[in-house]
Amino acid sequence: MIKNELTSSLLERFLRYVQVWTTSDSNSAGRGNQPSTKNQFDLAGILESELKSLGLEDVQVTDHCYVYGRLTASKGLEKIEPFCLLAHIDTVEEVSGKDVKPQIHKNYGGEDIVLKSGDILSPQKDLALAESARNQETIITSDGTTLLGADDKAGVAEIMTALEYFSKNPQAKHGQIEVCFSPDEETGHGMDNVPLNLIKSKYAYTVDGGHIGELETECFNAFKSEVTFTGVSVHTGTARGILVNAITMASNFVTNLPRHESPETTSGYEGFYAPMSIEGSIESAKVVIFLRDFDSESMEKRKALVETLAKASAASFGGKAEVCHTQQYLNMKDGFKNRPDVIENLVAAYKKAGVQPVFTPIRGGTDGSRLTEMGIPCPNIFTGGHNYHSRTEWASLEQMEKAMTVLVNLIEK
Ligand SMILES: [Zn+2]
Repeated sequence: MIKNELTSSLLERFLRYVQVWTTSDSNSAGRGNQPSTKNQFDLAGILESELKSLGLEDVQVTDHCYVYGRLTASKGLEKIEPFCLLAHIDTVEEVSGKDVKPQIHKNYGGEDIVLKSGDILSPQKDLALAESARNQETIITSDGTTLLGADDKAGVAEIMTALEYFSKNPQAKHGQIEVCFSPDEETGHGMDNVPLNLIKSKYAYTVDGGHIGELETECFNAFKSEVTFTGVSVHTGTARGILVNAITMASNFVTNLPRHESPETTSGYEGFYAPMSIEGSIESAKVVIFLRDFDSESMEKRKALVETLAKASAASFGGKAEVCHTQQYLNMKDGFKNRPDVIENLVAAYKKAGVQPVFTPIRGGTDGSRLTEMGIPCPNIFTGGHNYHSRTEWASLEQMEKAMTVLVNLIEK
């Protein structure tokens, strides 16, 4: 069906997109700026003109740097329910994304790849890379002075090239498809100004996963607990029997959290308590903890335990504790309860591409989970990118091609 011509188009797009500097800035995003960095408009503008030349309609870049476009349904298929494809255009700020010089390793044979920075990609240490070496895949890395930006420009290139397939093959029928490329995903603000006035779809897919086969339909339930201890301050020289130290209560509380349920002692489907900050004085001390759990009932138990431990610490030192829980995001799994077809269609598209779906729980939140909360169920598809957020980030062209084929299968009727 699709080969060679589209594959080289996919590669060409990917190489071009990663060279556009789109690093986002969480401080700026935290101050309410979107996009957090102006240069994200550079890639948005490129995508806007490409979507137009591919024949999409209503193509536009919003003031907040979201790129939107709509592929009109083939004649006679206007009644098919539309869906939206999403990917993000920014890259993470921890590693430079400026002047990316992508390196292509054709028919990669498994030798160590030594990057300019001295970093080494070795199949001995990287099982996914070893697998790609066995298949002699084409590997793309940075030169080691920057990240690569496969997260998520691989996803962007895959969506764009899948659209190119339908633009070049009018005999391939499809319903209406919407696309939305978003800024600032890496800052956690990627969905803050998502243009819901434009997006009419009732379900969507993000293309922002990793290894071939990954299919993500679950993420953590996430709450932030702020525990405030109140003590009594007096001169330390005459404090006996009077002073109540909020710092002591706070540290006692943190020590009593279950040690085997922390980020550093859990993986897979296990949840945790993560103390994030502790600050204060004798009179008042505040502890911020992140609570994470895939199960909503277990999350209620975690909240209850935080309250119990906080009150116990306060009581044993004669002070007071107040607990406030704030929801950060929810497991998107529940969002699919009424729409199992959203996942079933995707699984069928994987299988048609010869890809075995591997359901992977996301130990964090995603743009997809935020959209799901907004009532638009949104699973996440692999991109073929690996070692995200690092200088040793790499992508496999063959896996990217598979991701694009999954998208084509998903769209084609
Ligand atoms: Zn990403």
